[in-house]
Amino acid sequence: MKIFNTKQEIKSFLHTQGEANKTIGFVPTMGALHEGHLSLIKKAKKKNDLVVVSIFVNPTQFDNKEDLVKYPKTYKNDTKLLESVSCDVLFFPSVEEIYAGNISSEKFNFDGLENQMEGKFRDGHFDGVGTIVKNLFEIVTPNKAYFGQKDFQQLQIIKKMVKKHHLNIKIKGCAIYREKDGLAMSSRNTRLTKEHRTAAPFIYKTLKKVRANINTKNATKITEWVEKQFKKHPSLELEYFTIADEKTLESIKNKESDKKYRAFIAVFAGEIRLIDNIRLKTN
Ligand code: AMP
Repeated sequence: MKIFNTKQEIKSFLHTQGEANKTIGFVPTMGALHEGHLSLIKKAKKKNDLVVVSIFVNPTQFDNKEDLVKYPKTYKNDTKLLESVSCDVLFFPSVEEIYAGNISSEKFNFDGLENQMEGKFRDGHFDGVGTIVKNLFEIVTPNKAYFGQKDFQQLQIIKKMVKKHHLNIKIKGCAIYREKDGLAMSSRNTRLTKEHRTAAPFIYKTLKKVRANINTKNATKITEWVEKQFKKHPSLELEYFTIADEKTLESIKNKESDKKYRAFIAVFAGEIRLIDNIRLKTN
C-alpha cells in the first residue's frame, strides 16, 4: 500500500494512474477503522482498478470540541487493516495540509437536506462535511466514492452535492455493518463504558420493533412509543427519533404508498452520541 501525506504527492501519483486509464474507487474515513469501513473498501475493490482510502479527522464537522479531541486515533492498526484488505493507496494528510491555517467551512445549500435531523442538532456539521468531501474529491478525482448508510443523511447530502456541482463521480451507498448484538459499528463504540456498551443494542432492537409496526400504527404513535421506551431506560438518553422520507429527509406523520421511508435515531450513551437508522417497508 502506498501512503501519501501531501496533496501534491497523491495528486501526481493518481495522475499517472489516470493516464493509464485506471479507475479509482474512493472511501473517505476518519480512521479508527472497523469492519464497517472495511466492507466499503471490499466493495470498492471489486469495482475499481485502484482503491484510495483517506483518514482525516475533519475539525470543521465537529460541533463538540471534546468529541473532536477524544476521537479515537489508531493509525498503526488502521494501516494493518488496510493492508489486510489490499487497499492500494492511503491518503493521511495533516489538518495544516488540508486547511493551510484557515480551519473554516464553505457554506452549502443542499436544498434543505442539511436542516433535518443531524443538521438540527449538530450546528455547521454538514458545511464541514461538504467542505472536506468536496476538497478530497478534487484531490483524489475518483470515478466512484463509497459511503455508508449508517450516516444516511450524509450519504444523501453527498449525492446532492455531486448533482448540484455537476461532479462526474458515482456515489455508492453501502449497507450498515453491525456487531453480532445489532449495534451499528462505529469508531465511537470503543469509547463506550462497559455499562453503556451492554445497553447500546437496545437502539437497534427498538428500530426493529418500529419496522415491525410501521404498517399497523401511524408515525406519530410510533414516535411517542419510542420516546416512552427511552424515558424508561436507565442509561440511554434519546436525542431524537423520527420517521422520514428517504428523499427529502422530512419527518412524516402519515405514510403515502409510493414513497420510501426510514426511521432515524440519535441517542446519548453517557457522553457518547450514537446514531442509527432502518429502512421501513410500507404496504
Ligand atoms: P467515519 O470514519 O465514521 O467518518 O466513516 C467513514 C465511512 O464509513 C462513512 O461513509 C460511514 O458512513 C461509513 N461507515 C461507518 N460505520 C459504518 C457501518 N457500521 N456500516 C457501514 N458503513 C459505515
